[in-house]
Amino acid sequence: MTCRIAIAGAGIGGLAAATLLAREGHSVTVFERFETPRPLGSGLVVQPVGLAVLDAIGAGDEARRLGAPLTRMLGHSGRKVALDVAYRPQAPGLAMHRAALFHILWQTATRAGVHPVTGHTATGTRATPDAIHLVTDRGELGPFDLIVDASGAGSRLAPLTARALPFGAVWAHVPWPATDLPLTELRQRYHRASRMAGILPIGCLPDDPTPRAAIFWSLSAAELDEWPAKPLHRWQAEVAAFWPAMTPFLDLIADKTQLSPARYSHGTLRRPYSRRLVHIGDAAHRASPQLGQGANMALLDAQALARALRLPLDEALPAYHRARRWHLGLYQALSAAFTPQYQSHSRLLPVLRDHLLAPLSRLWPLPHVLTALVSGDLIPPHRL
Ligand SMILES: Cc1cc2nc3c(=O)[nH]c(=O)nc-3n(C[C@H](O)[C@H](O)[C@H](O)COP(=O)(O)OP(=O)(O)OC[C@H]3O[C@@H](n4cnc5c(N)ncnc54)[C@H](O)[C@@H]3O)c2cc1C
Repeated sequence: MTCRIAIAGAGIGGLAAATLLAREGHSVTVFERFETPRPLGSGLVVQPVGLAVLDAIGAGDEARRLGAPLTRMLGHSGRKVALDVAYRPQAPGLAMHRAALFHILWQTATRAGVHPVTGHTATGTRATPDAIHLVTDRGELGPFDLIVDASGAGSRLAPLTARALPFGAVWAHVPWPATDLPLTELRQRYHRASRMAGILPIGCLPDDPTPRAAIFWSLSAAELDEWPAKPLHRWQAEVAAFWPAMTPFLDLIADKTQLSPARYSHGTLRRPYSRRLVHIGDAAHRASPQLGQGANMALLDAQALARALRLPLDEALPAYHRARRWHLGLYQALSAAFTPQYQSHSRLLPVLRDHLLAPLSRLWPLPHVLTALVSGDLIPPHRL
């Protein structure tokens, strides 16, 4: 059966779902709030499970061309190694600029015949006995058989109330400077769990072959409140003193507008669907980016939904939920457990991390477990 489907949000999950659903023969329209495409943020890691979805939609090769293969994640607390996870040699992560991933997904959706309608903010839905309408700031649209809410962490269609996390971060992206740091590793520095700095090679932008880095600096909620008033040079001096290797990256920041503050939250919808309305990606579940899984989860949700919609509609949405719930539940639980070790006010957790968990993690078979964890395939991502 082919359906008339409206997707709210042309982000990572929305564009992937649009491509996959259009290929299945459904009539798909994507509504995006921005007038012109505008990906927010700087860098992210597409893990091997997410890359498999990009391959399935025909976007993997272009993603590999623009992104930076990531072989290892290495974090130090003082002189101690607090995090060391290697990817499988044949399946590295792929670190990307968010704009590059967005560009690729937009082009792939367009090739599949989907032309997102911009300048429409979804504010609600209205169901009738045999259809559903999307309510937007420009009026009501429809009728549709199904609405897919892919409008991200600020969704106005999802009933999710996520818990605000005590720490967020400021992010920037800069050209990769002259430095000894490797172009294939995420490097991090910690002080307890209250300070974290990171450098992530992210490949290049679609229209500029210069290799780039995403850099980030952890801030508590109170520090994020004070961020607008903080002079740039004072922040740069503080970070450079904390981690001198970051200095050449910091030197490339001339203006505070190059830095984007981000707050994190955590929560999962118990049931990500109702009649003719289904939520995917951050609209259905949110977590800190510590495990680097958010984009993958959105891509996997999109793929599971497209497969489930081969069933009649009333069976498809419960089938989508069943397909994703165990993988999603496990990763949400692990994110909740791991994040406070790196971003919290706790004094005890970072001591356990540095003196107990990090040494333990080097003992067989834990390195393999950690590799599977970050790769996104600790358990199968779909059960259909
Ligand atoms: C700083 C930071 C770093 C991250 N790092 C990683 C990482 O390393 N690896 C990883 O996998 N994930 C990472 N994530 C998480 C990842 O970015 C998200 O999980 C992912 O983008 C979710 O995809 P999505 O499609 O659900 O939402 P989004 O990609 O946010 O897309 C939502 C889209 O909906 C649009 N929209 C919003 N509201 C409306 C509305 N009312 N009507 C119409 N359109 C609307 C938005 O403009 C946007 O285009 C990070 C997140 C942050 C904030």
